[in-house]
Amino acid sequence: MENYFAGIDLGGTRVKIGLVSGGAVVAKKVIAARPEGGLAAGLQVVKEEIDAMLAARGAVLSGAGLAFPGLVDPVRKRILSTNKAYADARELDLEAWAKRAWGVPFFMDNDARMATVGEWKYGAGRDTEDLVVMTIGTGIGTSAIIEGKLLRGRHFQAGILGGHLSIKYDGRPCNCGNIGCVEAYGSTWSLEGTVKRSPDYAASMLSKAGTIDMAAIFDAAGAGDKLAIHVRQQCLDSWSAGVINLIHAYDPEVVVLGGGVMHRADEVLPYVTEKVLPHVWCPWGRVQIRATQLLSDAGILGVVHCLQHKV
Ligand SMILES: [Zn+2]
Repeated sequence: MENYFAGIDLGGTRVKIGLVSGGAVVAKKVIAARPEGGLAAGLQVVKEEIDAMLAARGAVLSGAGLAFPGLVDPVRKRILSTNKAYADARELDLEAWAKRAWGVPFFMDNDARMATVGEWKYGAGRDTEDLVVMTIGTGIGTSAIIEGKLLRGRHFQAGILGGHLSIKYDGRPCNCGNIGCVEAYGSTWSLEGTVKRSPDYAASMLSKAGTIDMAAIFDAAGAGDKLAIHVRQQCLDSWSAGVINLIHAYDPEVVVLGGGVMHRADEVLPYVTEKVLPHVWCPWGRVQIRATQLLSDAGILGVVHCLQHKV
């Protein structure tokens, strides 16, 4: 009989729920995240979606994993810190929730760290033991594999705060408390402020866009919109600076860029590669900069892999 595992990738904007069997996502549902409504309320919906996927296959669940956008203790299985979203998360006993719901083993860790394991085991980093993944979304998540070992650190925050490496010491305040973070320039949450602060906003087609996300910026830039071209440039340059810092910090052979914007990898990868390579101190050779192969499946596959193999 096939074993089925549920992988839940809780983003700032979307919740991706996958049913995984044999290292592949065999069913998936993406629903809108409601971080302001709290995590407990969201979990009920997640359970119903997983139950529906299981029922459709006549399958029984063997385990569940959660990739969470915040600091997570994967040993005690507790959420340690969130950046304003899911305010109730630290109080919840999620292992008990999975046991009540399905009577199965449970695992949880940071979402970007789980996406990194996904790319390492099933995606664009399969051929290396030295990998950094940077996932561009509502925030910017990062994580590192060094000499075949997933970096976690004593307080479980090693590697995952790459979005909060400062690229401008006298720059913008970030939502984390630091100044000039990569996230303050190149994350989706930062876009609206960037756009609306600009004197070019009123004349820009972005003033008529319903949602200001990466797709809106890249579409408007492609159509020649002056403000959108400026913001796209700022994003590309902030990601490039972030990648240079990550290479200097973690000594990877491969850097994988993930997130929805990598649907446009042909507009992102050549620029970032040309910007990064001349600026890194890397005498051993050339770091490969690649696009995700898994897109939104990376975190689902990663957290299920860690659950199954006790990574
Ligand atoms: Zn920050």
